[in-house]
Amino acid sequence: MSESAVRDVIIVGGGPAGYTAALYAARANLRPLVIEGIQWGGQLMITSDVENYPGYADGVLGPEMMQDFRRQAERFDAEFLTDNVTRVDFSERPFRVYVGEDEHLARAVIVATGANARQLGLESEISLQGRGVSYCAVCDAAFFRHKEVVVVGGGDSAMEEATFLAKFATKVTVVHRRAEFRASQIMIDRARANDRVEWVTNAVVEKVVGEEHGNVTGVVVRDLRTDETRTIPADGVFVAIGHDPNTKLFVDWLDHDEAGYLVTKPGSTETNIPGVFAAGDVQDHVYRQAVTAAGSGTMAALDAERFLAAEEGHEASALAAPRETAEV
Ligand code: NAP
Repeated sequence: MSESAVRDVIIVGGGPAGYTAALYAARANLRPLVIEGIQWGGQLMITSDVENYPGYADGVLGPEMMQDFRRQAERFDAEFLTDNVTRVDFSERPFRVYVGEDEHLARAVIVATGANARQLGLESEISLQGRGVSYCAVCDAAFFRHKEVVVVGGGDSAMEEATFLAKFATKVTVVHRRAEFRASQIMIDRARANDRVEWVTNAVVEKVVGEEHGNVTGVVVRDLRTDETRTIPADGVFVAIGHDPNTKLFVDWLDHDEAGYLVTKPGSTETNIPGVFAAGDVQDHVYRQAVTAAGSGTMAALDAERFLAAEEGHEASALAAPRETAEV
């Protein structure tokens, strides 16, 4: 493989973090290759209206926004490969990123593969995504003002979402499969103190009900003790049963926490391997917003640019606004 075939930067992942990293890297003349995944666009592709991304004053559809992100990076000659990375080798530089048998080499790699909200695994859930089935209360609660919603789950996320949704909805029913909650006591107490929140425990959602080509109208729940089913009327269903970071390809190389999220050095996107950076939800289980992922993608591109410049011995001129090296 000739030296010219070694890229400056490969970005793995095509969501807000990956595309923003691509935009910044492309504008810095780093000629990034974005291996964006066959299902590029990330979680925004299953979101309908986005009203909380700054700059879109009238809101935007999630898939449209991701196309805008992609087009903006493309304008500065970022290259895209719409395929899935199957393997990486970070044992030496240049780093190796594989798509099947094809090997791609780079001096720096930005991992921005995101995280997926866990799904209940129901056909009806999939078909009503964006039409009342949501995985993010912060994103979608405002659409349920004066309506009734169901929250599924018994962890901190479910409690947080229920409490948040109760600011908008007239009734929030938490459906949880056990009688005990995994959530911390303070989060349970907060949700319990809210008289708009109702509780259905020892129950599982069997089906999300909706009008044909229309919106959610309710959920069918089965009581695990009696096996009886009933329908809870609802205009929305918030599935809050956890997230899984897409890190399977990386956990053998990169430091990660128990849940599999990549660990970055505080205040930066650096991983334990110099030259490999992580951005967006793949390393953030707290904020999980498109705008925070985009911000983190920016950080990764700047970190990569600084890293490459240091390698080449001209770090000082790499950035218009250099910052202090983050403390570990
Ligand atoms: P989690 O703690 O893993 O809880 C997931 C919940 O969903 C559990 O109650 C689980 O039930 C239920 N569940 C899982 N799969 C299910 C299925 N297929 N059908 C029905 N129910 C299912 O996830 P999380 O609530 O997203 O929290 C993740 C981490 O973030 C935790 O460490 C949490 O403390 C943290 N977090 C903190 C805050 C905060 O402090 N503000 C807010 C949100 C999250 P079982 O209990 O029966 O397993």
